[in-house]
Formats: sequence, structure tokens, C-alpha cells
Amino acid sequence: MAVWEIGVFTSIDAGLGVKLEVAQELGIRTIQLHAPHRGSRSPDNAERFLAKLDDLNIELTAVFGGFEGESYADIPTVANTVGLVPEATRVERLQEMREIADFARLLGCGVIALHLGFVPHDRNDPSYQQIVEVTRSLCDHALQNDQSVHLETGQETADALLAFIGDTKCDNLFINFDPANMILYGTGEPIPALEQLGPYVRSVHCKDATWSDQPGNTWGQEMPLGQGQVDIEAYLRTLKAIGYTGPLTIEREIPQEPERQKAEIEYAANLLAKLRSEIKPG
Ligand code: MG
Repeated sequence: MAVWEIGVFTSIDAGLGVKLEVAQELGIRTIQLHAPHRGSRSPDNAERFLAKLDDLNIELTAVFGGFEGESYADIPTVANTVGLVPEATRVERLQEMREIADFARLLGCGVIALHLGFVPHDRNDPSYQQIVEVTRSLCDHALQNDQSVHLETGQETADALLAFIGDTKCDNLFINFDPANMILYGTGEPIPALEQLGPYVRSVHCKDATWSDQPGNTWGQEMPLGQGQVDIEAYLRTLKAIGYTGPLTIEREIPQEPERQKAEIEYAANLLAKLRSEIKPG
């Protein structure tokens, strides 16, 4: 794969990504995939999907887990419903995430990723240690599949995320950096966060957003790439500075408006290609 190959976040039957066909129509050669629903994660379906990727000459770079019952309606709802943090669903979701890792292995994919949820900020909180254990258990399973686990950024500050990764002591735990999420959740300026997290950043989202007037309490606004407050050129220059050479995966989460979604992804792909030719990452 070329350095900074452009990618797009896709979905089959779950998640907010675009259909694989949109990647093909836009000439995009790499994808991340939101894991399909449990009923679709069969060996037969994996084989069919692989044949399709092969046909379209598209490379799969990460499989994202997601769960029934998650809601991103507002920040408190995220805290209560998303990822492996909510206690009522933690055991079953850990099991499902293992199954998603096994499905990713069938797809020949060495990276699984997820939103872990809001990890408690107090490292002495008993539930903090439980979430460390759950993460370690998932990483152990992934290791048996020769996979890494990438945590999506957003719900923690860079400091908190570094401390958490250190506490797990897992060698296959890394970061999927999403600059827009830092702004949407109000957890920090994305460029300094990227510099700080650099050694752990193994995949990225190219997404943009504007800050809320009450950061951390209400959502910022997701925006088309280049129209928010991320400063995409500085973002790419910082990715070069930290030595990142992986794909630039565009994420635009407006599946309710498929035409607009596709047009804005095309615009983003053109913007990234232009900046890449100026910045010359390698
Ligand atoms: Mg993202």
C-alpha cells in the first residue's frame, strides 16, 4: 500500500459508513469496515465479501466493532450506552467483540477497533480497574488472531488515554486517532493531542467538526472535511512529523443523506490528495 493511501469508512448492514460501492465509484482503494450484525458474520459471508474486495481491488485495513443499544444522541447517552464501559452489557459485549475479532480474522484483517466508552477518569475508581481487565482480555484474544486493537479517540483527553493504555500493559493496544472527535466531545485540541499520542497512532480518521459552546456538555457539530476547526493541513503535517504512513480514512457520518455523504467524501478525497502532493509524506 502506498503511503497515505486514501480510505473511507464503510458499512454493510450496521454502522454509519457508506456502502462499498461508493468507495469503488470514487476510486478509493482502502476501507475500514463497521462489523456487520451478528447474523451476517458467517464464514460464507466473509468469503463473499473477500471476493468482492478482490474484484474491486480494495484493501480492508480495520474492522470496527459496534453493539446493539449504542446511541450517540448526546454526550450523557454515549456515556451510558457506548462500548465496553456500561456495566450491564459489558460481559456480553466483550464476548461479541471477540466474535467480531474472529470475523475480522476470516477477512484476513489484522486490526480491530472500537469506541471503548467513557473510561472513569479516577484511576482509583474500582470500575477503572475492571475496564483495564476487560481491555486486556480483548487484547489477549486479538493476539491469538495476530491482531492489534485500536481505540478510537474522543471520549478521553490525550493524557487519560495514554495513562489507560499504559495501565493495560498490552503490547497490541494502539490508537485510531479521530481529530474531529476531540472537538465533538470537547476533550482537547486535536493537533497537540496527536503529537502527544503519536507513538500509539496506527490508524486515523479524516473527519472535521466545530466546537460546542459548552465543550464536554453538548456536542460540537460534525462538518465536511476542511470546513470545521480541525485545520486539515496542520493535521496532515503532524501525521508526517510523527512518522505516520498508513491510510487516511475519511469518515462522514450522515447516512440519512447518501447523496450528500458521497459528494462530501469525494470532496474530502480530493482535498487529501491535493495536500498529500504538497506535503510529500514519503
Ligand atoms: Mg471516527
